[in-house]
Amino acid sequence: MPPNSNDTSTGVLFESDVDVGLTKDLTNLRTTDGSKLELVWLNIVLFVILHVSSVYGVWLLFTEATWTTVLLFAPALVITILGVSGGAHRLWAHRTFKANTPLKLIFLFLNTLAFQDAVYYWARDHRVHHKYTETDADPYNSQRGWFFAHIGWLCCRKHPEVVEKGKQIDLSDLEADPLVMFQKKYYLWLMPVICFVLPTALPMYLWGESLNTSWHVMALLRWCVSLNLIWMVNSSAHMFGMKPYDKNICPVDQGFLISFHVGEGYHNYHHVFPWDYKSAELGPCSQDATTKFIDFFAYLGWAYDLKSVSLDMVRQRALRTGDGSHPVWGWGDKDQKSEDIGDTTITHQRKEA
Ligand SMILES: [Zn+2]
Ligand SMILES: [Zn+2]
Repeated sequence: MPPNSNDTSTGVLFESDVDVGLTKDLTNLRTTDGSKLELVWLNIVLFVILHVSSVYGVWLLFTEATWTTVLLFAPALVITILGVSGGAHRLWAHRTFKANTPLKLIFLFLNTLAFQDAVYYWARDHRVHHKYTETDADPYNSQRGWFFAHIGWLCCRKHPEVVEKGKQIDLSDLEADPLVMFQKKYYLWLMPVICFVLPTALPMYLWGESLNTSWHVMALLRWCVSLNLIWMVNSSAHMFGMKPYDKNICPVDQGFLISFHVGEGYHNYHHVFPWDYKSAELGPCSQDATTKFIDFFAYLGWAYDLKSVSLDMVRQRALRTGDGSHPVWGWGDKDQKSEDIGDTTITHQRKEA
């Protein structure tokens, strides 16, 4: 039996899970069994066409596009990402908050605009990713390298372990959600209309953009950039960055993604506390677009039961298993610099007996 056939999970999925990573030796599980990749050439050809077309889209954006298209490109990109990070990821895969029907419909629309497969399949793969991180059962196993974790996993057949563990993961909550099942059932009709036809037609009819620019910029380039940013969470955010919360796992807090402020950059935090609706610790630096979007709908009462982790719990965990890169939490933090301690003024001191 290859090492990764082990049934032991490596990661935390919900609040009810314990600190799995702390109590188990993950060394064996992280070794891939070296099975040969079976390439899916249709996907490879389509991704090559998409990326070449998107480079042309960048050129059009700077040379031919109307000002309205230029101004609306970034907002269109952000709402596309929200459909995955806020909808498929935080609402459905991790159940970090609840949403009423109108908000679920908004998330389903945005999720279809992002075309990363139906929420049902995305959430299944993502739950397996968290539960069996860095093993062959992980759909985007970063132990196979950056390229595999980024896009390679979509260019080949799934490892048998991914299929096997995917069948075992509990999806009963998604199956009980009629809106999720509606999107799954009609995905092949909904996706082409929402992801490609609408973003091409609306700029043409609303502000007179050309068909060529609408197609290459608002349909293809928007989709391509959103894909690559989200794929970076699986690739770069499992490789290049700090581990303030748990140094024993591969996911990292990824500076490049954090700088975009769209969410999911604090990936070390997210793999330790995946049930936190913010996917990050509290504070001004963790205020990303997805969190603000959920906060806004919570203010309206459309999003509710938002789950968070207490600062105290975060600090204790960072002290216990972090790599020391966590910001100083206060007086007495082991990472507090001696010169800072020396320069601190303490008034009203009580004389020790
Ligand atoms: Zn991850
Ligand atoms: Zn996640």
